[in-house]
Amino acid sequence: MIRVYPTATGRIIRWSESDNAVTLERSIHSPSNFSPIADVVGRIVYYDDQYIPEALNDMIWYQLVAQDGKVIGPARIVNLQDKLAEAMADRIRQHVEGFGVPIAVVQVRVGGKKCSRCFSTSTNKTVDRMCPVCYGTGWEGGYFEPVFTKAIKVQQSERTLKSITPVVQFPNASVLVLSSDVPVSPKDIIADFQTGGIYRVQSVKETIERNTALSQTVIATLLPLEAPEYSLPGLKDYEYKLENIPGSKAQTNNWDPDVFLGNSIKEN
Ligand SMILES: [Zn+2]
Repeated sequence: MIRVYPTATGRIIRWSESDNAVTLERSIHSPSNFSPIADVVGRIVYYDDQYIPEALNDMIWYQLVAQDGKVIGPARIVNLQDKLAEAMADRIRQHVEGFGVPIAVVQVRVGGKKCSRCFSTSTNKTVDRMCPVCYGTGWEGGYFEPVFTKAIKVQQSERTLKSITPVVQFPNASVLVLSSDVPVSPKDIIADFQTGGIYRVQSVKETIERNTALSQTVIATLLPLEAPEYSLPGLKDYEYKLENIPGSKAQTNNWDPDVFLGNSIKEN
């Protein structure tokens, strides 16, 4: 099953781990002329901001090709963008960019090559949580390249958390609000460059209005300092990367969580 929905700047395409997708393909206007746009081995989500529609009623089709050659989809969206939803998404994006703290989203691998160091073919299980090759995921490399962005950190007052049920399961969790431009999935890693903490994503709620993805509310738990994720490549030299994030010198502790929470959050 493939789901596609627009954001202010592109389109999110999501599917299931069990699809074992290998290639993502796109076709404009008709579902008969697909071309590959991305290698998606080990992924369950892709953000497509490469095609800019030429007309309001442009139809954009996506399909996935699985490991066994099976085709998943197609799914389509019509580029008849909802101007109000688009403006809301853009406003949230600007707010997060201006007032959020710098973070990196690191997507976890859910497929690909089994870890050559610690995966046991006899038990079909990963045996080393601290493995420097797969970081305990069982898949070679463990994670994809970090994507540097911003997030609003939500203060954990009783009032704001009432509407976020998974917090009950994870009492020490952090709540972050991101725009929709960097899609987050459960089990991904989020690095918080303000505190140096590295978090495991427990749940993601997408706020979707008029079929447009506006924002994501992420509940994440801090990993212990001995977790191998603290030595993920690309996160160690983050101070350099920080300079590349637009607006990263903006004030980061003046945010208003109530703008984002409470009235239009839907279950993913
Ligand atoms: Zn391993």
